[in-house]
Amino acid sequence: MWSKLIQWVLDIFANPNSKSSNSMMNIILFGPPGSGKGTQANSIAKKYNLLHISTGDLFRYEIGNSTELGQLAKSYINKGELVPDDVTIGMLKNKVDAYPDVAGYIFDGFPRNVYQSEELDRFLDKKGQTVNALLQLDVDDEEIVKRILNRGKTSGREDDNDEMIIRNRISIFNDETSPVYNYYDKSGKSTSINGIGSLEEIFFRLSVAIDAAK
Ligand code: AMP
Repeated sequence: MWSKLIQWVLDIFANPNSKSSNSMMNIILFGPPGSGKGTQANSIAKKYNLLHISTGDLFRYEIGNSTELGQLAKSYINKGELVPDDVTIGMLKNKVDAYPDVAGYIFDGFPRNVYQSEELDRFLDKKGQTVNALLQLDVDDEEIVKRILNRGKTSGREDDNDEMIIRNRISIFNDETSPVYNYYDKSGKSTSINGIGSLEEIFFRLSVAIDAAK
């Protein structure tokens, strides 16, 4: 307790602009593909001054630059499968470590299974941080298929244009990803939010939940 307090004071003197690690706000925006995580995470990042980290966007950036990581990720993404954990977790950690002086992170599309959740917790714990809240956007499967096919008309994403691939992504969410909700619910951090409505309505619901988690 005392050593943490002393370390905190030393940190502030060493770098007055850095945030105290304990005051960081780390949010997981959770939900099936097409539930609106990306759009909402952007607005939340602005309002709460958080760094938005989307593992899907990071993979697409690597694919766009034809890196080795991008080539590997593409072979999974285009089938609607998860990219292997070691690759995904390594990439996520690099991104967090590259931005240590932010007020917190909003994770979008990560973690996608319980192992990734455990790794995230261990990683944050070493920094004296934690996940403050997991907010799940609830949208039913048929609405998701409709939304993603619609998004596919303009997103240029191969994985948004084929109904079989979309259904595969949804079933992976239901089988592998949805247990992440219960994982964080055990420590009272999970909240389920109605993901149907206008962007403003959903943003309002999310903001209420974030303010309650502060
Ligand atoms: P998203 O943009 O979040 O829908 O992600 C697009 C695709 O990237 C997913 O269908 C996965 O193939 C891959 N992906 C994104 N995040 C992860 C993750 N945390 N673990 C494994 N694969 C991921």
